[in-house]
Amino acid sequence: MTDLAPVKGMTEARITATVDAILAATSLEEKVAMMSGKGFFAEYQASGGLWGSAPYRAGGGCDRLGIPALYFTDGPRGVARGQSTCFPCTMARGASFDTDLEQRIGTAMAIEIRAQGCNLSGAVCINLLRHPAWGRAQETYGEDSHHLGAMGAALGTGLQSHNVIATVKHFALNSMENARFTVDVRIDERTLHEVYLPHFKAVLDAGVASVMSAYNKVNGEYCGQHRELLTDILRHQWGFDGFVHSDWIKGVYAPYGAAAGLDIENPEPRVFGRNLVAAVEAGSIEPHVIDTACRRILTVGYRFAAAEDPLENYGEDLVACAEHRALAREAADKSAVLLVNDGVLPLDRANVRRIALLGRLATLPNTGDNGSSKVRAPYVVTAHDGLAALLGEGVEILAGDESDLSAATVAAAQADAVIIVTGYTAREEGEYITADFAALDGAGNGGKAIGGDRLDLGLPPAQIALIEAAAASGKPVIVVIVAGSAVLVEDWLPHAAAVMQTFYSGMEGGHALAALLFGDVVPSGKLPFSVALDASDYPFFDRDAVRITYGRAHGYSHFDATGATPRFAFGHGLSYTRFAYRALKLRATPDTLHASVAVRNTGDRDADEIVQLYVSYPGNVAHRPAKALKAFARIHIPAGATRIVALAVARTDLRWWDPAVQSWRDEPGAYAVHVGGSSTDFVTRHVTL
Ligand code: BGC
Repeated sequence: MTDLAPVKGMTEARITATVDAILAATSLEEKVAMMSGKGFFAEYQASGGLWGSAPYRAGGGCDRLGIPALYFTDGPRGVARGQSTCFPCTMARGASFDTDLEQRIGTAMAIEIRAQGCNLSGAVCINLLRHPAWGRAQETYGEDSHHLGAMGAALGTGLQSHNVIATVKHFALNSMENARFTVDVRIDERTLHEVYLPHFKAVLDAGVASVMSAYNKVNGEYCGQHRELLTDILRHQWGFDGFVHSDWIKGVYAPYGAAAGLDIENPEPRVFGRNLVAAVEAGSIEPHVIDTACRRILTVGYRFAAAEDPLENYGEDLVACAEHRALAREAADKSAVLLVNDGVLPLDRANVRRIALLGRLATLPNTGDNGSSKVRAPYVVTAHDGLAALLGEGVEILAGDESDLSAATVAAAQADAVIIVTGYTAREEGEYITADFAALDGAGNGGKAIGGDRLDLGLPPAQIALIEAAAASGKPVIVVIVAGSAVLVEDWLPHAAAVMQTFYSGMEGGHALAALLFGDVVPSGKLPFSVALDASDYPFFDRDAVRITYGRAHGYSHFDATGATPRFAFGHGLSYTRFAYRALKLRATPDTLHASVAVRNTGDRDADEIVQLYVSYPGNVAHRPAKALKAFARIHIPAGATRIVALAVARTDLRWWDPAVQSWRDEPGAYAVHVGGSSTDFVTRHVTL
């Protein structure tokens, strides 16, 4: 250790002085070395293609001076190292609308990250779900910017509570998969600022200290070397003082990226390194660019290293410990969305002696895709495991799957309850890993590309046939959907008595499913996206696009604009009880619009409700969406009780971006405020601001 190494308790002034001293004591080569990762490919190959097997050195550090490097691990399903806790996927947690839970999940991940030797996490993924075919939809929280910002801020805050530097990604407009390395996303300025960036700003305002740039281009330039995004917006407009690192492997194309605002190239110095040293020596990159990047990297690293740790020790026994597994279970309980229920749910244990549990996915550990966010949990409770554990030996579980439809009909006919687990696996949707990269793993899979955007928004035909076969028994059929985002249901909905979307529900998902179906837990998740009647009701999508335009409307704003009716609206989700809303009151102060509403649980089950506040703008100075989510709260309401729920909207969240003045503007006039249990079912009051 030298006197330049970080020590606990360093003040900000001492950190600044130390960083100055490091910059004075290091050569150009040493500084540039801090600006890239190192050793990723060697580790990847040595581990036989286990992405995330090692804590990757992801920039920073100078061994000669005892300055520690950044060690990266991925998320967001959990910690992508060792045998960590596998939580429900991000989209599931989006459906919980539970920022407190999300912060606790971030805290648990941070503890597991620290216990496994890392200090930088790639878990905060908040790209906006523009279209449900996006292969990585499962890694984000949904289609709404306000919701993305609130959930991402909660996760990031939790991660950083144990001094893990959180990275928010992928900046920006990375909402499609197969074409992610090449696609040029075209967007106008207002749409960029009002729809695709506010959630990033919200997460950075909450203190998240690093950003990962995206692979794709925006308006003709790669995000990893996009001066407008990385410097003008991030640093100058938003005042972000952390560091930016690139996405892996194809994240930056020219040393110029450093001057544009990229501080670290990950995971190896393919473009920076020697080329960047040469560019500085040749005078095409100014030396202060290098010093500025190193100053950002070092300052963030030292701030986190200097902060006091909440725990004295981060032992390996904390990884997937009982408390974290319980958290995974809580998240699965709170995130399932009951889409349809004709009264068949909850099942009554007293009347169920035999269950037909159908579908290949019923017995498959299925926690999500096989990309960078894959978590290798110590175990996964499948739907079958969960039902068997809840019901015990007195209840017989009849199996059946897509391979024998007549056997499935017979099993259903003999059963008191029929449950079919449908949906996807890593084969149908997931992060796209190209064939040339997959070949590097040395695992002999022939270098086949994996993952990618979905080709179909409906269920696979074999699963639809299974639903029909089960329904032919005459028994009510309960359909469970496992998927990262919206699944169209029109082909088979008439055959279903109940439909529940569980997403990829993590290592404890099977226990949660059983408890939800039998009413030990009341469903409370709400859709963080819109489910269409037909694929043509979504915005244009082409997974092989070379260029694509992201317009102002997508998700519920698109349905509002086109007048198309969704099958299930954003925010929809049923319960085993009902809630009634009344007495919406509004009060405006110079900074904030305050709302309060009375929510009564009118049924006979204690339950959680997700209260949502949408705003409709005056729309007289600029074209605005018909409505936009601006606040939400998850609350517990005992049966028969009424709760007064307070919600607040910052008035800065109601502004529009005026390209003419390159700034935000208020829109005076009459606003409608809608508060309710979904985006289409609410009470409304007006207020003039
Ligand atoms: C993904 C990132 C991830 C990185 C490192 C990339 O392929 O796009 O989300 O953080 O790999 O694992």
